[in-house]
Order: sequence, then structure tokens, then C-alpha cells
Amino acid sequence: MKITDIRWEKVRVGMEPFKISFATIDAAEIMILKVTTDTGITGYGEASPFSPVTGETIDSVDAFLRTVTPGMIGMDPFEIERIHFMMDHTFTGNGAAKCAVDLAMYDIMGKSAGVPVWKLIGGFRGEIENDTTIGIMAPEDMAKTAVHFVKDLGYRILKVKVGIDPDDDIRALALIREAVGPDVRLRVDANQGYDVSRAVYALEGFKKAGVDAVEQCLPWWDRAHMAELKTKVSGIALMLDEAVHDEKDAAALLAGGCADILNIKLMKCGGILPGLKIADVAGAFGATCMVGCMMESRLAITAGLSLIASRSCAAEADCDSYYIFDDAKAGITGGFVEENGVARLYNEPGFGVKINF
Ligand SMILES: [Mg+2]
Repeated sequence: MKITDIRWEKVRVGMEPFKISFATIDAAEIMILKVTTDTGITGYGEASPFSPVTGETIDSVDAFLRTVTPGMIGMDPFEIERIHFMMDHTFTGNGAAKCAVDLAMYDIMGKSAGVPVWKLIGGFRGEIENDTTIGIMAPEDMAKTAVHFVKDLGYRILKVKVGIDPDDDIRALALIREAVGPDVRLRVDANQGYDVSRAVYALEGFKKAGVDAVEQCLPWWDRAHMAELKTKVSGIALMLDEAVHDEKDAAALLAGGCADILNIKLMKCGGILPGLKIADVAGAFGATCMVGCMMESRLAITAGLSLIASRSCAAEADCDSYYIFDDAKAGITGGFVEENGVARLYNEPGFGVKINF
């Protein structure tokens, strides 16, 4: 099979403002990539660039694709390691742009083999318990939102954004726990907003609210203090997100005693193949993974869920951005259904996602 044509188109999606420790997000631009082969099979990929984390913009994704794709004409989508090798030796970083190419290759491989991607790459579970995320607001409003997610939408896991003021953060988690009761699992994301002493203080408060895990307390580069923080807290798991871009980061962070859980995002690492490498490094260290997301449409979310579905150590899902996207309006449907916080992947070849492009 040979690639014969590659084209891409920008999609802009507006959304309700969503606040995290270092940014407020009110719109997202994604790039949808369409790859055609000489067998007539086409595959779709997606880039959702988020410059504070990967340094990419929609224009840098376009520049990457203009540079890399001419050399891909005539390549076989099954040569996925060689395609990544070529991309990695042309551009460092650029995880979201690489992800667009990677996902299109896996969509084609699945369609060619007649199996869904989640089975092609491992096939461990077809049902995934997903969470949904509460942005930073007044603590009382965060508790109200939590009640809405649990009572009206059926979620049993909530992720709560914190990292600006530890006292507000502790109060928000206490109010949320009081509002949703003891059975809902809570995890917290500080998005690099603390230092060690503020993190130790906040985590003691979060433990009282029965929080399972706290994500990225410290700046992404501060490995020495991540290891120090881990020696100072117990009874609550430490997760890393912005610090983990590839399997080399994963190995160094886990060998350095910096984390219990890694948050894999396809847009940081460059797609499913690098994501599988991170998951397997985590498994080798006895750590677990969550798969998270940037502001991704149903296409990339289906890919993230497929990664979780493929590995036993990838037990947690934070794949909720499709929620605030009007995917149907953008012409993107299928992939999975979600009910009461449980996502079920389609048993259709490739990602099973339909796109009007
Ligand atoms: Mg995070």
C-alpha cells in the first residue's frame, strides 16, 4: 500500500471559557489531516496544538505538514516506526503535528486490516470509565458544577483544576466532596502552579477530601523537586503531565522517583506509537498511566481512548474535551458512545470516525 495524497484543513471551535492555573481557554483551532492511498483507503488524523505545552500553533502545524508530507508520498502507512523516524529527524518536538500524521496512519492500518485500532494495537478493554473536568472558579461554583456532572450526567470520576491559591483549592475540594458524597473518585490537576512547600500544604488538605491523585504540582522541568515532593507526601498518588513528552522523559522521571502515574497525551508525544512506548515504559516501572487530552475533537479522543483500551497499565481516562466541541456541526461523528461516564469504542475498522472532508 502506498500513500498517494495528503491534505489538511483548519477547524476553529469556540467554547465556554475554561480556566486552569496558567491560562483561560475560550477557543481552539485544530487541524484535520486526510491521507489517501493507492488502495482507495483513506485515513484521518488530527493536531490540536496548545502552545504553552508543546510550543505549537495552528500555523506551525501547517508549516510542519508542508515540510514533511511531500516525502511521505509513496510510503506505506504500516511503516509507522520509519515514518516517525523521518519526522523526528526533520523536527524535534511538534507533538501535535506528528500526532496528525500518526493517527491517519493508524486509521488506515485499521481499515486495511478490517479491525478497530484499539484491537490492532492491543485490545485489552473495550469499555473505559471516563472522567470530566471542573475548571477553576469560586469554590462554591465548582461544587455546584460537580453536582451537575454527577447527578445529571452520571460521572463517577471528577478531575478538578487547581494551582492558583492553595487555601481556595483545599476549600474547593472540601466543598466538592461534601456535595457529591463519598463514592465519587476525585483527582486534582495543579498544572505546575505550586512549589514544594505549597504542594505539601495543599496535598495534606486534599487527602482530607479523599483525593486519589494530584497532577503536575511543580514546573515541568523541575525534576529534582518532583523527587523531593514524592518523599514528603504519602497516601495520595503523584501524577505528571507537562513533564512527560516522550518515553525518554517517562524513563528518567520514573527512575528518578518523581511520580506514580504518567498522563499521556497524544498531542504531547506525537500520536499512538509514541504513546504506546510511554505506556510500556510505565508498565516496566510498575507505574500506571492516564490518557488525557488537549482541546481535541471526537477523532483524537477516539484515538486516546483506543490507547487506553490497548494497555492494561493505562487504566485511567481523562478524555473529555469532545464534550465542549460541537463535533456534529464540525462534521465529525462516530468512534465511541459515552453514557454515565463510560465510553464504549466502536467495533468498526480504523477509528470508526466519520468526517465530512
Ligand atoms: Mg494536566
